Amino acid sequence: MDTPLTFTEPARELEVSAEYDVLVVGGGPAGLTAALAAAEDGLKVGLLESRSFVGGNMTIGLPVLGFLGQKGNQVIYGLPQKFIDRLKVRDAASEHRPCPLHMGITLVEPEAVKTVGLEMLTEAGVDVVFYTFVAGVIMSDDGSAIRGVITESKSGRNVVIAKVVIDCTGDADVAYRAGVATEKGNEHGGMQPPTLMFCLSNVDTEKLRTSIAVEKRTYLTDFIPAEYFGQNNQFIVVGLRELIAKARTERNLEIPNERTIIITGLKKGEVWINMTRVTGTDGTDARSLTNGEIVARRQIDDIVEYLVNYVPGFEDAHFTKTAPFLGIRETRRIVGRYTMNEQDVLGCRHFEDAIAVASYPIDIHRPGDEGCTLIWCGDCYDIPYRSLLPAHIENLIVAGRSISATHEAMGAIRVMATCMAMGEAAGRAAGIAVTQDILPSEVDIHALRRKLLDNGAYLRGLEGERLTPETEDVSVPA
Ligand SMILES: Cc1cc2nc3c(=O)[nH]c(=O)nc-3n(C[C@H](O)[C@H](O)[C@H](O)COP(=O)(O)OP(=O)(O)OC[C@H]3O[C@@H](n4cnc5c(N)ncnc54)[C@H](O)[C@@H]3O)c2cc1C
Repeated sequence: MDTPLTFTEPARELEVSAEYDVLVVGGGPAGLTAALAAAEDGLKVGLLESRSFVGGNMTIGLPVLGFLGQKGNQVIYGLPQKFIDRLKVRDAASEHRPCPLHMGITLVEPEAVKTVGLEMLTEAGVDVVFYTFVAGVIMSDDGSAIRGVITESKSGRNVVIAKVVIDCTGDADVAYRAGVATEKGNEHGGMQPPTLMFCLSNVDTEKLRTSIAVEKRTYLTDFIPAEYFGQNNQFIVVGLRELIAKARTERNLEIPNERTIIITGLKKGEVWINMTRVTGTDGTDARSLTNGEIVARRQIDDIVEYLVNYVPGFEDAHFTKTAPFLGIRETRRIVGRYTMNEQDVLGCRHFEDAIAVASYPIDIHRPGDEGCTLIWCGDCYDIPYRSLLPAHIENLIVAGRSISATHEAMGAIRVMATCMAMGEAAGRAAGIAVTQDILPSEVDIHALRRKLLDNGAYLRGLEGERLTPETEDVSVPA
């Protein structure tokens, strides 16, 4: 192989454009709550976001999953719930609706997510800077801590300094550039494929659901009984495999997914389609991402033709828009002080340093084929604080889908309510660290847990009971 052509960039002075107590990088579900939580302590908090809006994947037409547990109880409250409550004021979020496959679905209106997210951040005094990509880090002389990050934007190349940095990029961009060990994908490096979500209007969702409920032999869904569709007018359809097979045979359509996935929107007649799929994409590589956008966009016409001609209720539907970007399910995961694994999830494990409770099943869109692996544990599992802390870098916390977890565990903890709960914990931990002038790893876990509980978050005791600040200190087997 030829040696790649390289250039040495001349050293240059960079202007420090801002200095914060806590810097949050990435304004997705995790970054939003991390910044809000840190700002509640009166700290100087900055949020850098490469796009022109906050919300991350919550703006691409997806329902928020993870609020309800496998036993039907709500397992995430605190700031994530406050965010949903604010959306509800604008009729921009549904109730947490039980769903046999997804446990609970919470529909949100993407544009309102951007507006309300920004409103809450600015009200909290967070200094939000858009159009700013974090491209590097500046380390302390001994390499143990991050002094600041290097940003690239229309303003040029700058430095932002912070006492504690929270990496909520989803890709562990900050951690990776700081030299934190990271992993990608399964044992073969295969990552869950991305999807370009798209939206259709003028869908008769009443006809869709009643057809599934009544003609249950024709319209078969995965894991969701047909009766469910008779009782619910906001829902996710997963399945209709026979119809896809028929469309492939009769019309020679290229459909990259073995399952039809339809998510009702909050607006009448609007649905979001989660069916494009580009295997082999690496969301940390610009060319691969570009290829993903090209291939996914090409897939849309055949999927629309399939829906309009085979799925009841879509007869008069029309394509309206794609999501603002290709949705990336999986990239880097940090190697932290504890790596969550499949047994932790399936064993409903308790952790002494639990900072959030999750219940979403392992849900892996398989990297190598068109299928999906789903495994339920029957209850809840904890997320330990140590999984948010990189093994070596001292003033960095990671929250969201890139925490320390195996490919399998990440397939469970990646949903948005869980990411928001992790973000809140990261922000509150950063608040304690800065206020007490200690490292995030030195934060007293009981103080952090009590602070979370004081602010309405959900943590559980050994019998699954909801803890209060007074009952926080239950003994939990290691
Ligand atoms: C197609 C698809 C379907 C899914 N379905 C569901 C579902 O139905 N329900 C559900 O709850 N979850 C679903 N998920 C999972 C969920 O959306 C993500 O795992 C979750 O959004 C991760 O949250 P996050 O905050 O970690 O990252 P993200 O939502 O990815 O947010 C990261 C933010 O950081 C910004 N950023 C990234 N790098 C930089 C940088 N270097 N500098 C500055 N800013 C940066 C990004 O612009 C983005 O705003 C799905 C994911 C995909 C892709």
